Amino acid sequence: ASGYSLLRDPQYNKGLAFTEKERDAHYLRGLLPPIVISQQLQEKKLMQNIRQYQVPLQKYMALMDLQERNERLFYKLLIDNVEELLPVVYTPTVGEACQKYGSIFRRPQGLYISLKEKGKILEVLKNWPERSIQVIVVTDGERILGLGDLGCQGMGIPVGKLSLYSALGGVRPSACLPITIDVGTNNESLLKDEFYIGLRQKRATGKEYSDLLHEFMCAVKQNYGEKVLIQFEDFANHNAFELLAKYGTTHLVFNDDIQGTASVVLAGLVAALKLIGGSLAEHTFLFLGAGEAGTGIAELIALEISKQTKAPVEECRKKIWLVDSKGLIVSSRKNSLQHFKQPWAHEQEPVSTLLDAVKPTVLIGTSGVGKTFTKEVVETIASFNDKPLIFALSNPTSQSECTAEEAYTWSQGRATFASGSPFDPVEYNGKVYVPGQANNCYIFPGFGLGLVISGAIRVHDDMLLAASEALAKQVTEENYKQGLIYPPFSNIRKISANIAASVAAKAYELGLATHLPRPANLVKYAESCMYTPVYRHYR
Ligand code: NAP
Ligand code: MN
Repeated sequence: ASGYSLLRDPQYNKGLAFTEKERDAHYLRGLLPPIVISQQLQEKKLMQNIRQYQVPLQKYMALMDLQERNERLFYKLLIDNVEELLPVVYTPTVGEACQKYGSIFRRPQGLYISLKEKGKILEVLKNWPERSIQVIVVTDGERILGLGDLGCQGMGIPVGKLSLYSALGGVRPSACLPITIDVGTNNESLLKDEFYIGLRQKRATGKEYSDLLHEFMCAVKQNYGEKVLIQFEDFANHNAFELLAKYGTTHLVFNDDIQGTASVVLAGLVAALKLIGGSLAEHTFLFLGAGEAGTGIAELIALEISKQTKAPVEECRKKIWLVDSKGLIVSSRKNSLQHFKQPWAHEQEPVSTLLDAVKPTVLIGTSGVGKTFTKEVVETIASFNDKPLIFALSNPTSQSECTAEEAYTWSQGRATFASGSPFDPVEYNGKVYVPGQANNCYIFPGFGLGLVISGAIRVHDDMLLAASEALAKQVTEENYKQGLIYPPFSNIRKISANIAASVAAKAYELGLATHLPRPANLVKYAESCMYTPVYRHYR
């Protein structure tokens, strides 16, 4: 290739880091200023640039620019500055980026499959330049973060998630494929927006929707084989549960909103037991919110209790209660309950206020509605628990059920607290409390890597349990002393390697792995498979 095109290919470009020899060998003389600098210095310069921007969206755009210009440098920045840049390439900034996607993107990223491509999806897949794909993240844009229906502009989500697959989980960027399926949008303001980039029509539903998705799922398997991981992301719950159930037996599918969330929260719960005492089976759980997150977490807790106690899972569900927008889920509501809520309809009189019927030891908020864990709620749960455990998972920060400070203050410092959106440490009565963040980024990159390195062909719930356990094991005594129930993010690549190894081990154990023979040391093997963004030398 010519030097000129080398500079314009983000996979190969090194900018000023091209050496003298490379400049000679690849016709780069004169196309670059004379100076040669290291990747470290490039990184320093770019971080300075990014830190100058006050507006998060500008930081986001600078990073996307870098990704399009010099991929390895982009990942180097992301890996070395993960805590600082995570909120930029992912939630919350990515949400704003999606809202403004029509006007900010310069070059399209990812693959768009709309109703117009019906009957031609296989051809569309073949237009993507990379042949060997290991992970696909796909959305239909109907429930983007807590922002609702953003239609085709949801593309920012698969793009962002996959950059975390590479940065945190070490899946090669060229093996990642972001996809947005456009079946229309019900977002009135987008439909009226002259710059909207998607189909200008109401969402297709029913057979038209499921036919398109079916064609997509079949085309993916035909084109990439059985070992490609398809992660469903930010689908509305009425489709999410159905797609997962329908394709779980024929494809390698994973839903991060349901399963990833469940695994990360279970890990926090298991770790928290060290602080609050008791076994999982001895606790009583109450959820506010019974959607993808709530019922997903609830089911994984029940499965883990069932494993530990050997009791049937139906039995284990009985100590787990869920409240939705209509009140406590009870048997008298059974006929009108959505399918995924049915297993949680326990025998009990209907009640409408939280904490009226149940005395939980663990309170978990997953309704998307903020400020619902009021002073009264926290004081009540603290009145019958010495050490209450509170998860305020609704995102973004404004929707959190309560703040970290509220949880600690209202419980007189007795609560263990974790949230979906990050909170700073809190000082209360001279003691510093560090809240945990139940961030899905702890699980999905390592989980996906584990599937990839073992050549898994199906996801099994036991793999989710294995991932939870692996994450919980990464919490150190030092962390526990600060009240932390998740390990610090700075070690995320090591955490991911450990999760990957546990997931892969489970895949081999269950006979779902195709990469044979099984490597003896799976942690070492996972680490050796991980993509690193150091520059290559070109001869
Ligand atoms: P979802 O599927 O739409 O479920 C929302 C649930 O909340 C539904 O059951 C809904 O009731 C219920 N609800 C809504 N308003 C309520 C109210 N005022 N009182 C009681 N219940 C109410 O959404 P999701 O995907 O589960 O996400 C829910 C929240 O969890 C979001 O804020 C999301 O950001 C957060 N989340 C956090 C993490 C994390 O921290 N790692 C991961 C995933 C999700 P109906 O069923 O009656 O409509
Ligand atoms: Mn999501």
